[in-house]
Amino acid sequence: MIALYPGSFDPVTYGHLDIIESASRMFDRTIVSILKNPNKTPLFSLEQRQAQIRTATAHLPNIEVTTFWGLTVTHARQQNAQVLIRGLRAISDFEFELQMAHTNKTLEPDLDTIFLACSNQHSFLSSSVVKEIARYGGPIDHLVPPNVKQDLETAFAPLD
Ligand code: ADP
Repeated sequence: MIALYPGSFDPVTYGHLDIIESASRMFDRTIVSILKNPNKTPLFSLEQRQAQIRTATAHLPNIEVTTFWGLTVTHARQQNAQVLIRGLRAISDFEFELQMAHTNKTLEPDLDTIFLACSNQHSFLSSSVVKEIARYGGPIDHLVPPNVKQDLETAFAPLD
């Protein structure tokens, strides 16, 4: 079975990677797909985010990383995915995620959404929190993999 895990991943965190590791055990193939979202101004380009996830998942042979634009359901159909994966951190994520799952079901009835929980220690973690800490030089080793830490340090390096 093929699963699609869509998101912004700006940048990928250990919370996302929890979900990717679980998906890798559950599905034959999991496609992590980075959305080009016209409503958000990302810190990292699509190419940078793709490289970050590829490096962080290099040990998982059934994980692929791609990018897309437009409706997630259309992309899922093009990729022959039968399942959409979304991560849940807390009950506060649930209302929005359930609304989106219902909407996607009306658009593509054969596509099912599966929610996966991250591990407890990553339940507070979001890409925005990581960027905020990195911007002010705080510790992020426990939040993102080493390659992403490096990219964040470069992005927020003080200008001479
Ligand atoms: P989006 O803009 O689509 O929400 P994100 O990159 O923020 O993109 O998140 C992608 C998916 O990963 C979403 O399902 C989100 O709920 C989930 N997610 C984000 N952070 C975590 C985390 N710390 N633990 C588990 N799931 C997470």
